[in-house]
Amino acid sequence: MSTVPEIKLVFDEPKLRVKTPSHFADWTPEERKAKAVELGIPAFRAKQVAVHLFTHYNDDPETWTDIPKELREVLATTFTPKLITLVRSSIADGGKTRKDLWKLHDGVLVESVLMRYSDRTTVCISSQAGCGMNCPFCATGQAGLTRNLTAGEITAQVIAAARTCANGDMPGGPTRLSNVVFMGMGEPMANYNAVMRSVRNITSPQPDGLGIGARSITVSTVGLVNGIEKLTEEGIPVTLAVSLHTPDDELRDSLVPINSRWKIKEVLEAADKYADRTGRRYSIEYALIRDINDQAWRSDLLGRLLRNRNAHVNLIPLNPTPGSKWTASRQKDEDEFVRILEGYGVPVTVRDTRGRDIDGACGQLAANEIASAFTSSSITETTEGAQ
Ligand code: SAH
Repeated sequence: MSTVPEIKLVFDEPKLRVKTPSHFADWTPEERKAKAVELGIPAFRAKQVAVHLFTHYNDDPETWTDIPKELREVLATTFTPKLITLVRSSIADGGKTRKDLWKLHDGVLVESVLMRYSDRTTVCISSQAGCGMNCPFCATGQAGLTRNLTAGEITAQVIAAARTCANGDMPGGPTRLSNVVFMGMGEPMANYNAVMRSVRNITSPQPDGLGIGARSITVSTVGLVNGIEKLTEEGIPVTLAVSLHTPDDELRDSLVPINSRWKIKEVLEAADKYADRTGRRYSIEYALIRDINDQAWRSDLLGRLLRNRNAHVNLIPLNPTPGSKWTASRQKDEDEFVRILEGYGVPVTVRDTRGRDIDGACGQLAANEIASAFTSSSITETTEGAQ
């Protein structure tokens, strides 16, 4: 069906076309102190910066009144250059879903989606601008990979979301950002180092990080086995999600083209090892596509594949992307799919379709196209310059 893309797995610092300025959130806590000392600034200032960023979600050095003014100016350029600027936000679900479009220093656009539920608030963040994985049903995949994001750029999306929550900028009053999912634009495992640095920023206790528990973070992958293996060695028990989408290699070769490199068996074995090592059940993502991967026999095969594994299936009704001939499954087929899986004792949930009407649902993020579409959308709330 689709051709196998040229995929470069990046485990080193990304080679950016215009290098993103180095940022406090790119460094380890030790490096932060060392940088301060290098600049002739007492090491304790690094801790003050950390408190502003990760405890108060304040990335505007001008307002850091516990630091002398001249020093704030130095810090603004050397420690905390502005990496992401809000272009606009759009809201849906009565304000409980909010999609933010961010412009990076080089004009590249990425998106994040904040979703408030009764028991938690989750931000879905981007790890790359675009994506090189080329899954034919995903909007982000269609334009290819523009570039990797830095840890600073990834972390900045989380800080912004935490600030939105804390400020009470969503209906329901102030709340705490409780969950982070790497399910926005990009393949997190193809930008491994920056993703892991940002995971540490999110999980490290304050003041070094945001203090959100690793278990509340989900890293979703197409199944880059080398990445899953590396993650297994990190000792950070984030939730691993594997985008399987079908239990047979024949179809998966076209739905998730990287399957030509790592087959289903290898991917699941790597996920099993992750589960064994961390004690964490992993998640199998499965976008239900009408008459493509939603047949009863596939559910049966999936059930047999997963019945003795420490896995949970998350079914995602397909969010149709522009120009695609594919659509979501019929309700009766979805119900049957669930019933068969449950028959095998496999835990299964069907994901809600939050943000669908603002192209903010799973697989709909494609900033370059949406940037122009935004202006004509009646549900768009423009907040240009609000950041
Ligand atoms: N690259 C990562 C993160 C991608 S987005 C990964 O593939 O896991 C998170 C989930 O949304 C993935 O499971 C992805 O396959 C799914 N997805 C992509 N496009 C979709 C669409 N149009 N409808 C429903 N789910 C989609």
